Parts: sequence; C-alpha cells; structure tokens
Amino acid sequence: RRNDSLLDAPISRSGAAFQRARAVIPGGSMRPSSWFPPHPPYAARGEGCWVTDLEGRRLLDCSNNFFSLIHGHAFPPVVKAIQEAAALGTAFGLPTPQENGLAEAIIARAPHLEQIRFCNSGTEAVMFAIKGARAITGRSAIAKFEGAYHGAYDHMEIGYESAPGAWDGPDGDPASTPYARGTPAAVAADTVILPYGDPARCADILRRKGTRLAGIVLDPLASRIGMMPASPELLAVVQEACARDGILLIFDEVIAFRMHHAGAHTLFGVTPDLVALGKIIGGGLPAGAVAGPAARMAIYDHTGGRPGVALGGTFSANPLTMAAGMATLAAYDTAAVARLSSLGDDFRQATNAAFRAAGLKAQLAGMGALFRLHLTDAPIRDYRSVATIPAGKGAIAAVHAALLARGALLTPNASGALSTPMTAAETDLLTGWLVEVVREVTA
Ligand code: PLP
Repeated sequence: RRNDSLLDAPISRSGAAFQRARAVIPGGSMRPSSWFPPHPPYAARGEGCWVTDLEGRRLLDCSNNFFSLIHGHAFPPVVKAIQEAAALGTAFGLPTPQENGLAEAIIARAPHLEQIRFCNSGTEAVMFAIKGARAITGRSAIAKFEGAYHGAYDHMEIGYESAPGAWDGPDGDPASTPYARGTPAAVAADTVILPYGDPARCADILRRKGTRLAGIVLDPLASRIGMMPASPELLAVVQEACARDGILLIFDEVIAFRMHHAGAHTLFGVTPDLVALGKIIGGGLPAGAVAGPAARMAIYDHTGGRPGVALGGTFSANPLTMAAGMATLAAYDTAAVARLSSLGDDFRQATNAAFRAAGLKAQLAGMGALFRLHLTDAPIRDYRSVATIPAGKGAIAAVHAALLARGALLTPNASGALSTPMTAAETDLLTGWLVEVVREVTA
C-alpha cells in the first residue's frame, strides 16, 4: 500500500524511497521513521561529520549512527582497513589474525579488562554478559535501572519507556513493567527495577532482593534515563550490594566506552565483573563484545568439555569489523579522547550559558562528548523527572524536526555525540541552532 498523502506533493527522492519501503518493511524503515514526518531523509553518503541525503542536502551528523562512529563517516584509515580485509575474504569458519588484533588493542587500553569475546551487537553483548552472570552465580534474576536502554534482550526490555502517568510502582520502587509486547511474564518476574536518582531507596531494594540477583546492569551515562552521570553514592550502593550478596556488576559501555581511553569504568573508578561493549569498537560495522577480568571471562571458555556459556555466532569477530575496529581505536588515542571530551564540555557549557542568557527553560545534560537536550531548567535526577517534563515528548520531536530543517541530525530524543572531525566551528553552529530552535518551540 502506498502513502497517498505523499503522492500529492512533488515527490522527493527520499519520499519516493520511503513509499517503496512501506510496501515491504513494516513502518517503512529499521530507523524510527515516525520521528521524521512525513518521511525520513535517506542517506546517500557521508564524509567526516557531514552526511548527504538523496536530495544532496548536507546535515551535521550528531547522531553518528546512534553514537557508533567516533571518527565520523568514511574515515580514510577505516575505509582502507575494510577494503584490505575484504580483498582477503569476508567471513571464515576459522579464527583470523584480525580478531587477535582487536582483542589485543582493547585489552591494551583498559588494564581492568584482561580478556574479551566478540559478538555482533550491543544487544548480544548485554545478553551474553547476563548469561555469564547467571552461569557464574547459579541465579536467574537481573536488576537494571528504570528507563535505561540496553538493547532488545528480553530482560532488558523491562522498566523502559513506561508511559508517564502509568507508573506501576511508587517513586523510588519502580515495578517490573515490560516495554515490548510479547515479553513473557516470567521475564518481568525475574527483573528487578532500580531507581537511578535515589541511592537510599536503591540500597533498600537491593537489601531485600540482592540474594536473588545474578547481576546488576548499569550504564554510567544512560542516554534514555536522561544522560546524567551515575552519582558516586549510587555507584557505592551498587558495589556494596554486589560485594555483600555475590552479585555480578555488569557495566553497559556500549556507548560509554568512548568516554575514556580505558573505558567508562576507569573514568568512574569502578571495577565491574563484566563489561558489555559495542558501537565504536566495530569502527562503523556491526559489533559487540563482552570483556572483563580473566577469572570472570573463564565462563565463556567451553573448550575441553568445560561447562561454560557459548558466546559465539556465525558472524562474530568478522574480519572486516575487526579491521575497522582496530583502525578506529588506533586513531582514538588518549590525546583524541581528551580533545573530544573537552570540545564536548565546552559545547555543553556554552550552550547552557546561551540558554540562560536567552531566558530559555532548557539544558544540555551529558558528559564529555555526549549530550542530551531537556526542555526544563529544573534539575534532572532520573527517568521519571525526564518523562514528566511539562514540555513533553512532542516538544522534543519539534526540536528534532526544526534542527533537521536547519541542517543538524540528532537522535530522536535530541541526544547526540561529537565526533573527532568536529571542531568549535561545528559546535558553535550547533549552539546557535539549538538556541533558535528551543526559542521557537517553547515560545
Ligand atoms: N546498550 C546501550 C547503552 C545502547 O545504547 C544500545 C543501543 O543503542 C545497546 C546496548 C544495544 O546495542 P545494539 O543496538 O548494537 O544492539
């Protein structure tokens, strides 16, 4: 079926592509197309921090494929590495030198991570980390923080994107509400939801339920919660419960790994049992990994008849991904991390000062090169304080659309990430657009 309303207008190339897509792809796209009315721009190509759509319009790319491109598009060393690897063959039922290369590159940067196993996505990484925690502890329940997104594994689709006003638990003791239709009730019953902004209540829940838990999954800068860094108090509560009740601490660094040369756990001074990785480690190709101390990672060694967790997959450690990841991380050294983080800190500070100077009720949350816009000047504590901002999701959708019209691509919830090709020229441009757009939308 065609979208008739689109047929009335002079059809753009992206519009025509979307019409064809709707016939064969439910919803028209694997991307959240509803956030791009009447249709998303289709990407034709990208170079550095700019992406060009089928109409030839250039967009400043702050989505970076949902935080996965640290060097922007078509970074020459990554293109070269992929071409060279592809010329040798794209997939083998054998290990390749490339997987040793990326494993060594990641282990060399992060002293706490001694071993690693690769998979194909962040979803898989979190899932395999949870399976590892269950196998190690012999328990099944998993805790996560309300609102946090960790991909599409069943237990991670609980307590996420609840509708405001439909909270199932009192503040500070959230209920286990499934997000996805079809989530088995047993999954919800085995998932404990923790409040991110209330360490005391979190400690209370963990005191009552801790001995049931195999693991606690924590992203120290969860974007869907609101992108506020985990507080030292919260981290202390979680680590104390893990030590007391024998729970494994699983850090989800699928996005956050980029925050420090040695990973976000190093930045936050935490030594997790397992770390889920993805996004930038694949250099723009599909990637995931679980890493940690050798004693924990031994659970994934099922050679010689050991009863372990099978962390594999047909395309895991694909040589193209491994080559792209190596080229990416080689260029994301300590100097590059520091430059990008300080560019991000300056950008958020300058934008927040500009919001204040203009009398706008808005703020950029985040840390380092990661940011998210909230249309309030009130403090943000947790997912509920974001979900109940009076301006609401509709206003964020309007901001997203207005930024796109000016020439900036953010993620649908108005979050974004800087990439290494960006300079103050691009962040100044974005600050100017943000002030204009927030004024327009909140007027
Ligand atoms: N964990 C976090 C923190 C994420 O942001 C995401 C994806 O956005 C995932 C896990 C899932 O990763 P993937 O989309 O590669 O499956």
